[in-house]
Amino acid sequence: MRQLATARHWVFDMDGTLTLAVHDFPAIKRALEIPQEHDILHHLAALPAEVAAAKHAWLLQHERELALAAQPAPGALQLVRALRERDCRLGILTRNAHPLALLTLVAIGLADCFADADILGRDEAPPKPHPGGLLQLAERWSVAPSELVMVGDYRFDLECAQAAGARAVLVNLPDNPWPELTGLHARDCAELLARIDCAEGLAF
Ligand SMILES: [Mg+2]
Repeated sequence: MRQLATARHWVFDMDGTLTLAVHDFPAIKRALEIPQEHDILHHLAALPAEVAAAKHAWLLQHERELALAAQPAPGALQLVRALRERDCRLGILTRNAHPLALLTLVAIGLADCFADADILGRDEAPPKPHPGGLLQLAERWSVAPSELVMVGDYRFDLECAQAAGARAVLVNLPDNPWPELTGLHARDCAELLARIDCAEGLAF
C-alpha cells in the first residue's frame, strides 16, 4: 500500500475528468452511422481509408467545437495546480486528438501545467483501455508503471490503469460502478485534492 500524498506521477484523462463532460457519444455515433454498441475509434479504424478519413474529419471538427467551449470540472484547476506546485510530473492520456487536447487545456486555463510531450492523444498512443499510453509515460519519466496514478471518469481509464499496473482513481461519478477496477473513488477533483491533503494520508 502506498500513500496517495507521496504519489509524484499523475496522468489525467481529459474529457469528463478535467472538463465537464459534454461529448454526446450516442449522437456522434448516429451522425457517423456507427452502431451504438460499437467503439467509435475501433469502428473507424476498421473502415476503408477514404470513408474513415471523411468520418475522422467530421469527428475532429465536432470535437474542436467542444474543445473551444470546454469548461473545467469542479476542483480540476486547483488539483492540477496543487500537484504542479509540488513538482509532480503530470500527463494527459486521452482518446481525443492531441491538438484538441491542447486547445482544451488552453480553454480551461491549464495549458502551462503539462509538457507537450506528456500529452498523449489517439495518434500518440493506442486508445484506452490499451495500457500503451501509460507505459509510454512511465518510460519517459523513468519510473515503474506502479508509480503512476491514472485519474479518470470512465471504465476505460480504470482498465487502462489496471492493465499497466498503475493505480486508478475514479472521479466525477456519484457512485462507483467499477469498484473492482478502482483504487480510490472521489466525488470530484476537489475531493481528491482534499484526500491527498488529509492529515492521516490515504493508502491505496
Ligand atoms: Mg473521460
